[in-house]
Amino acid sequence: MTLTAGVLAVQGDVSEHAAAIERAAAARGEEAVVHEIRHAGTVPDCDVLLMPGGESTTISTTIAREGIDEEVVAHVAAGKPVLATCAGLIVASRDAGDDRVATLDLVDVRVERNAFGRQRDSFQAPLDVAGLDEPFPAVFIRAPVIESVGEGVDVLATWDGRPVAVRDGPVVGTSFHPELTEDSRLHDLAFFEGTPAERDGVAAADG
Ligand code: GLN
Repeated sequence: MTLTAGVLAVQGDVSEHAAAIERAAAARGEEAVVHEIRHAGTVPDCDVLLMPGGESTTISTTIAREGIDEEVVAHVAAGKPVLATCAGLIVASRDAGDDRVATLDLVDVRVERNAFGRQRDSFQAPLDVAGLDEPFPAVFIRAPVIESVGEGVDVLATWDGRPVAVRDGPVVGTSFHPELTEDSRLHDLAFFEGTPAERDGVAAADG
């Protein structure tokens, strides 16, 4: 199977995410074609979407101006997977507490930007993530804190007692940057771990 993946390419580490998606696909014996999204019109062709880190105010303004925001909302409404990292998660959240970010309400979480504190603006931590056998080397860069999660949200990982990786239906969101190491297990988890329908089935079985 060939997976068509779109990476929002407004800003941020786009090529690292593209490489991580390709590695995750290759590990599954599959192929990924990655499109860099700068304008409206490409998202509808994508099976999966990646919303990278960067500066959430800039990403928000640009995707709204280009009309990409509505396409991303439609992608998720169709049950197609998204991985949203750091600033990407801020844009995907329900509420970022900042008027300059028009959140898309794809993940039922409230986040606070840059809330991990100055002395820890940037750090790496081995993170236990639900569904992964070994800790994930998580790189945090001026990362948002997830302040609260809605009822339908699964917390996949916590750091310092706070959620830093969550899943809300087809969307996986991380406070950290999973593309900055060679480890592509988070991309695998978001894009290749079962179809969204299978995941819904599991959620339903869990009650
Ligand atoms: N601090 C950035 C913001 O609030 C996010 C940082 C990042 O994506 N690494 O938009």
